[in-house]
Amino acid sequence: MTNELLRYFRAKEKERASETAAATQCPFCSVQCTLQLVEEQIVERRRYKAIPTDNPTSHGRLCLKGMHAHQHALHPERLLFPLAKVNGRFVRVSWDEALAMIAERIVSIQNEDGADAFAVYGGGSLTNEEAYLLGKFARVALGTRHIDYNGRFCMSAAAAAMNDAFGLDRGLTNPLSDIPLAQTIILVGTNIAECQPTLMPYFYEAKKNGAFMIVVDPRETRTAELADLHLRIKPGTDAALADGLAKVLLEEGYVNETFVRERTAGFVEWNQHIATVDIDEVARVTDVPAENIRLAARKYGEAAEAIVLTARGLEQQADGYVAVRSWINVVLATGKIGRPGSGFGSITGQGNGQGGREHGQKADQLPGYRSIEHPQHRQYIASVWGVSSDELPRKGVSAYEMMKKIDAGEITGLFVMGSNPVVSSPNATFVAEALQKLKFLVVADLFLSETAELADLVLPVSSYLEDEGTVTNVEGRVCWRPAARKRPGEVKHDWEILCALAHKLGKGQYFSFASAEDIFNELRLASRGGKADYYGVTYERLRRERVYWPCPEVSHPGTPRLFTDRFAHSDGKARFAVFPSGVEKEETDELYPLYLTTGRVLAHYLSGTQTRRSPALSARQPEAVMDIHPETAKRYRIGPGMLVRIETRRGTAVVRSRYNDQMRADTIFVPFHWSGLQQINNVTADELDPYCWMPAFKRCAARVRPIVDLGRN
Ligand code: SF4
Repeated sequence: MTNELLRYFRAKEKERASETAAATQCPFCSVQCTLQLVEEQIVERRRYKAIPTDNPTSHGRLCLKGMHAHQHALHPERLLFPLAKVNGRFVRVSWDEALAMIAERIVSIQNEDGADAFAVYGGGSLTNEEAYLLGKFARVALGTRHIDYNGRFCMSAAAAAMNDAFGLDRGLTNPLSDIPLAQTIILVGTNIAECQPTLMPYFYEAKKNGAFMIVVDPRETRTAELADLHLRIKPGTDAALADGLAKVLLEEGYVNETFVRERTAGFVEWNQHIATVDIDEVARVTDVPAENIRLAARKYGEAAEAIVLTARGLEQQADGYVAVRSWINVVLATGKIGRPGSGFGSITGQGNGQGGREHGQKADQLPGYRSIEHPQHRQYIASVWGVSSDELPRKGVSAYEMMKKIDAGEITGLFVMGSNPVVSSPNATFVAEALQKLKFLVVADLFLSETAELADLVLPVSSYLEDEGTVTNVEGRVCWRPAARKRPGEVKHDWEILCALAHKLGKGQYFSFASAEDIFNELRLASRGGKADYYGVTYERLRRERVYWPCPEVSHPGTPRLFTDRFAHSDGKARFAVFPSGVEKEETDELYPLYLTTGRVLAHYLSGTQTRRSPALSARQPEAVMDIHPETAKRYRIGPGMLVRIETRRGTAVVRSRYNDQMRADTIFVPFHWSGLQQINNVTADELDPYCWMPAFKRCAARVRPIVDLGRN
């Protein structure tokens, strides 16, 4: 071996010696895959690798997003110091100055405009500890009724429907390991292959076991490619389709009469309603052939064990709540729930979409899924917090309604933590304009997001690599995420900011926490006896295992499968529901002849603040693209790859076209991860579901035209 080679191998040896690895968890979707971030010193530069690690949810799998999540956390654009806007430009200020300024503005706004004039807007990616503390901060430190979060745009329809039908809302009623036991699986409006890719092996295994898979989606998604039956539904008609299946199930004797009698209420009224359903009319409304509706119903009805899973395609509609209830009716009629391989679920989108909605970030909620309007619930939480229940505010308004109150001048100060409503809200131009009317906007974020750009003050917060805490995944499993790296610059954890601000506001005695574990221990107590009971979950346990809630005692094993012998209503019975038909929805017409629907793509997450800064993910999909059927495209003189103006009654977006012959001819699809001209939420509808205040993101009427007209070229 030459000297040169020897020197090379010795240098390599040294490099290996400088390698470090730290355990962490992907910050993105609700699977919460675990990994090791390996950091290598290669001569004069550092190299990072994400290596998947085993856990009982994703079993050592990691998708593209998880592989590259560290790229945004290590990005040079990370905010490292508090920034205050002076004469339209951000300047660096100290934490003391920043906190003093926020406290002073909160006090003056609340003195001038009332306690409720200062609002809080949270996020579904905050840890359980931070979501819990944000709710407590709003109610105890600010005394405002107005707190809500971006999860309103994610899980509110399913959460409200499951609460009302089952008496409890947990994303999945069954563990994921039940999926391969099902003989029929119905996926409604969920594109798991792109949104939660590491869950797909559960479905591959089910297929290998002979399962029949039905996918309901207007698009031929990567998930739909796996289907034995793809029902290419007209957007926004999912409730009618569920009723169609129900009609066949009732007519052909698939009702589980014992289950219905012993474990449900409201069947008689529902049965009468379904008797009026006409399959041919359902076929006309949904654009799904009647024989396919019958086939889907029979496959579901004859399966000994079957699972129905929904997601945002069905839920982000003006009647999303009714649609989820309609599918739950189908499940209840056949009794396919509460057994291995039989159940219902709504696939959570955000990383902590589950835990983030359980512990007090919602306008009407206190920790442990308690109600802010219920006297005993108020009393219990007040006793845990050491305040009088009379001091706790009442319920506030939902996320988008908050924006309307800002526009109307009723809310004049806003604290945003872990969210980017300027990109993620419907009718986003209106939201951006409303936020500019605020007397004071403070945003805590990793980056100068589109919302942070509008702020008076921006606070730098720690990323998933630096912030210890817990999140609750798609299965309702509480997962502990250790901190893997030191914080850069003067970055603080979200919970540290809330504690420091509470001290400045004279409420420090209620916020004397020294660690995330301290906060979690108070959360355990606050949730004790509630529906989402975490009392038996401790950090000590979580360092060894992921625990399913409810878990009322430290000795309790956790609850993987819900509703095995009773539902969570006080009489133990689930509820059928019938709703008046004809919820107002935006329809197509001569001016706006196409349906626009939106969603995610594999490489990006939410408003793209993080994934657009990841070079690997951005390279994979650098811009928004509109999927359109070639025949439709030609009708509007749109060529493939051409820039297209999409217009609705609210505004305009400009994206590039992509021919997709698997699209419905009357529907276009655009992902929602981009801002500026490509921001599709500038045009989405702001109708709100009256049962849960979910905006109708998934269907509005649109028209398209090329920026360059082929005919003139
Ligand atoms: Fe896992 Fe979801 Fe992260 Fe992908 S995005 S690695 S599926 S947690």
